[in-house]
Amino acid sequence: MEPLPDDAILVLLDVGLDGALAPSAAGLLGAAAGVGTPVALVLVSGGDADVSDGGGDAGGAAGSVGDAFAAAAAELGAVHVLLAEPAGLGRQVAVPEADALAAAAALVHPDAVVCSHSVRGREIAGRFAARSRSGLAVDAVGLSRDDEGVVAHHSVYGGAYDVRSAVTFGAPVITVRQGAIDARAQAQPVQARRIEVAASGMRTAVIESVEATVAESTRPELRGAARVVSGGRGLGSGERFELVERLADALGAAVGASRAAVDAGYVPQTLQVGQTGVSVSPQLYVALGISGAIQHRAGMQTSKTIVAINTDADAPIFEIADFGVVGDLFEVVPQLIDALESRKA
Ligand code: FAD
Repeated sequence: MEPLPDDAILVLLDVGLDGALAPSAAGLLGAAAGVGTPVALVLVSGGDADVSDGGGDAGGAAGSVGDAFAAAAAELGAVHVLLAEPAGLGRQVAVPEADALAAAAALVHPDAVVCSHSVRGREIAGRFAARSRSGLAVDAVGLSRDDEGVVAHHSVYGGAYDVRSAVTFGAPVITVRQGAIDARAQAQPVQARRIEVAASGMRTAVIESVEATVAESTRPELRGAARVVSGGRGLGSGERFELVERLADALGAAVGASRAAVDAGYVPQTLQVGQTGVSVSPQLYVALGISGAIQHRAGMQTSKTIVAINTDADAPIFEIADFGVVGDLFEVVPQLIDALESRKA
């Protein structure tokens, strides 16, 4: 097995409740590969951290869960994969993960530690940064490197400013916004090893039970979706919001909403995009009847292509839209849906 690299970027990969690597993994490893050598850390429970002899044969006879994670992470560009099984994983909030990051960082001496800006990733990154006395840079939409180390790029104040942050000592801990990174790392041969984690015994909240919510929709999840169609107050009612859902289905997109639409009860708060909702960075963001208040823009301005439909030509959403239609969404959107469906036919 090759020695660990001098320019390692330690990347904590989330594992979803479905037992697979979270979709954020590809972007995290892509970002890491642009500034160093990605070393992935994957946390598993119940004896699953074992890897086949040599740690490199994902298709080996053992075929353990550890091998499968190692292979999946290597396919996404991890040059080394560390598998850990910290005590308390799944029963305690963030402490087992921070313990594992501490063990991995002691081994790897990374130039930066990268986590997803998911709710869980934020919690872990904050804890680990506080414990290791590292600088924390949150919600990065890009990474670069200068003479002094890794630099995090942020889109702030509703996307009005791009700022860069760097630490003046040690390795930064950086959370990366889901969907913000287009770069993908090259697949690598599998090099995996299991690491031991000493339990810190730090106090934390205990998880008594976890209940999966049954998804009521076949649409993509808002976080990390490649396409999002959002509706605002301009829809006028919960019933009429159905037009947003129809366009989303025609595009294979997730559904989002402005806070005004949520506050008016058209849709649940889980769909809110913005400063106090979800941040998204899809390839395509379609805003229907949304004025483009700064708090809404804060959650969608880094979308790659923005399309707005609004009756008010002076609505601020047009300042950031790549394509805009000044018109009544109830006239424009049905025509758009018809055009999309006739293309499929
Ligand atoms: P409006 O501003 O009322 O805009 C409705 C738009 O619909 C108008 O531009 C109008 O021209 C257009 N319209 C009307 N009828 C039609 C039609 N038939 N066809 C086409 N267009 C039409 N907001 C968020 O979205 N997300 C947040 O996370 C968020 N967090 C906030 C946090 C704080 C602390 C505060 C103070 C506010 C926050 N807000 C947030 C609220 C934000 O300031 C705006 O009030 C909100 O985004 C407005 O939503 P809207 O664009 O749907 O409604």
